[in-house]
Amino acid sequence: MSWRGRASHYVAAGALAACLLGWAAHTAWPSRELPVALPLVVTSAYDEWADTLGRREMLSDVLARAGITGREYVAFMKATRALNPRRMQPGLIFELRRLKGATVANRLGVRLDPERHLRMQRLGGDSGWAETVEEIPWTTERLRTTAVIQSNLYDALDAAIPDSFLPIRQRVALAWAIADVYDWEVDFTRDLRPGDRVDVLIERLQSPEGEKRLGRILAARVDVAGTPSFAFAFDGPNGQGGFYDDKGRSLRRAFLRAPLRFSHISSRFGGRFHPILKRWRTHEGTDYAAGYGTPVRATADGIVTEAGRNGGYGNLIEIRHANGIRTRYGHLSKFAKGLHVGQRIRQEETIGYVGSTGLSTGPHLHYEFLVNGRPTNPQRKDAGAGEPVPSKLRSLFDTARAQLLAELEPSGLPALAPALGSVAGPARDD
Ligand SMILES: [Zn+2]
Repeated sequence: MSWRGRASHYVAAGALAACLLGWAAHTAWPSRELPVALPLVVTSAYDEWADTLGRREMLSDVLARAGITGREYVAFMKATRALNPRRMQPGLIFELRRLKGATVANRLGVRLDPERHLRMQRLGGDSGWAETVEEIPWTTERLRTTAVIQSNLYDALDAAIPDSFLPIRQRVALAWAIADVYDWEVDFTRDLRPGDRVDVLIERLQSPEGEKRLGRILAARVDVAGTPSFAFAFDGPNGQGGFYDDKGRSLRRAFLRAPLRFSHISSRFGGRFHPILKRWRTHEGTDYAAGYGTPVRATADGIVTEAGRNGGYGNLIEIRHANGIRTRYGHLSKFAKGLHVGQRIRQEETIGYVGSTGLSTGPHLHYEFLVNGRPTNPQRKDAGAGEPVPSKLRSLFDTARAQLLAELEPSGLPALAPALGSVAGPARDD
């Protein structure tokens, strides 16, 4: 089943398809959550076993262990179009089978990627091998969860979601995906306080083998210092997906909340919160602890007005934006390739990399937000207003939002305690 197929299903169900934001974060393959390799299974006619592509191994190594060498290897490779021996990741699991007593495997299966399974079957006599590629029939469920922040987003999701619901790496992917949805609205490294809540409605995919992974985020509510901030997935005017708040305004704004991607900084700290070196009040900027080389993003469209060495700032970039706003990024280890004064920069573009140049005791990013030349602590209102849903899509959005809200908060009120529930109803896809 394709994404397009599911999307049209949702449209038919009255809930609109979401965008694929957050999707890229969890398509890494091979998956480490694959079921453990099968033990040798002896049936009457066949031996079946599994083998894993090791580090610095090639496909030919796996095939050699299965007895597929020489002319047999040539015949095997001739028959496959989907297997690319130069683009194989260590950790790939091969399912193998041979006739009892034979030395050469006559069947091989492997998951090419999350969506496809390949099977190679040896034909009789000198006919060589035949290749079959099948799509994996992932089923989709819509599930909601509520997490209460104690220390940070990860720990909250980790405590609220058991392994049987989403494995650990997928919980991390969920935290990153939520941070991506709220990229313009919430800085998850510093805006949340203990007691703040995160409600999220997601798609969870499940394979016939029982693997579970995160699909799309459909809706979310994050309480930031007690104020709810909603996100509803909705296809925008150009058909490209996006997230809109409860008033129908895009969550995309002129300014990102933070110059570092949450997934980039948090991954460097093993999923833990990192210390904030200094608070804004003490030195007119915001410091983000992050590893050397972490990509730094421009928080808004603008023009580079400075890119070079500048005293205590070390390697500094300054960008001029609309409405008399400038942003500064200090202590960089290096600049993006070719970056120069006068260059036009787009929001989210990588402009440099975290370092410790200038007056700095360790790798971190010093970020300043200046309004008419005065360093300012950026507020949410400074991010600009989100584009509203176009009026001709308004009633469609209102319907989609109402349904998503009912699934996100089934009782009409948020759950009082961390809750984990499956959402029943017409939108179920399995
Ligand atoms: Zn600083």
